[in-house]
Amino acid sequence: MKALVLEGIGELIYKDVETPTMKQGEVLLKIKACGICSSDIPRIYTTGTYHFPTIPGHEFSGEIIDCAPDVDRSLIGRRAAVFPLLPCGNCDSCKEEEYARCSDYNYFGSRCDGAFAEYISVPVWNLVLCSDNIPYTTAAMCEPVSVAKHCIDAGNIKPDDTVTVIGTGTIGLTAALWAKSIGAKKVIVVGRRNESLNFANSIGIDCTVNSEKENALEDYLNKTDEKGADVVLECVGRQEAVNNAILYAKKGGRIVLTGNPYGDITFKKDIYWKVLRNELTVTGTWNSSYKSTVNNWKETIAAFESGSLDTAKLITQKFRLEDFEEALATVRDPKKFSVKVMFEM
Ligand SMILES: [Zn+2]
Ligand SMILES: [Zn+2]
Repeated sequence: MKALVLEGIGELIYKDVETPTMKQGEVLLKIKACGICSSDIPRIYTTGTYHFPTIPGHEFSGEIIDCAPDVDRSLIGRRAAVFPLLPCGNCDSCKEEEYARCSDYNYFGSRCDGAFAEYISVPVWNLVLCSDNIPYTTAAMCEPVSVAKHCIDAGNIKPDDTVTVIGTGTIGLTAALWAKSIGAKKVIVVGRRNESLNFANSIGIDCTVNSEKENALEDYLNKTDEKGADVVLECVGRQEAVNNAILYAKKGGRIVLTGNPYGDITFKKDIYWKVLRNELTVTGTWNSSYKSTVNNWKETIAAFESGSLDTAKLITQKFRLEDFEEALATVRDPKKFSVKVMFEM
């Protein structure tokens, strides 16, 4: 099969590799769509991954075309998204079904081969089936949309709440759409680029603030009756954004930290004081929940199926796998506007 293989830092090669073979309990998936995650960029160009060669790609969907002898054959022909985390199943976190906290997990697209390829073999346990009327590209959004749902859940949003989302990437905008769909009274998106904020407006977010603008804090507070938001979701991971999250929360408010940090994050004393004096609740989230009781992936598919959440509009560019250079350049070029760039096979 054809695949994009990361053979070293900065060495992504489009080449023929062996089609994966199914182990017990697995199905063979013909990959139809795979998103490029912002975490793939350092993986490919700067930090590398756990070992080389590795096929990147963890945000994917496809059609089940074959299955191991011990697997129910009626799955063949079904379409599915895939939870990319392969937990150990033995640690304390796994026993609590908190798979994202597993101390010894494997992961498609970083720790083992992922979905920048034609085929992948995945355990039935990781399949999230969806109906045939969900486009594959929409189903491939399941990973970031589930991460955003996990963040939203941590914010414990109530119908009368004002919710502020810092960040205009896929996770930020999806979190804003989730907040709206679960009935937050007001959703404010904060970003640094007018183009991104205009895009947020175009997908139905009616309130935005440019944090780089002069008097940005005044402008922001104005939009929250001078109080700040009940819940602030930080989906950037930069110093300024984390500081702003603290300034943007109301007294007694809740902050959810979700953005992966770009570097060290430290606090000035006056910002730190606000956490104490305003008695803020600060929570971190990682990945998504795949429990039998709370499964963000099933919630996401259900929201796609009912039409209550439309994240397909966040897919701004689609490319064929062989056009990967252009696809990655689109993600990396700050002059090019993109939210989710996706491979469509
Ligand atoms: Zn991702
Ligand atoms: Zn585990």
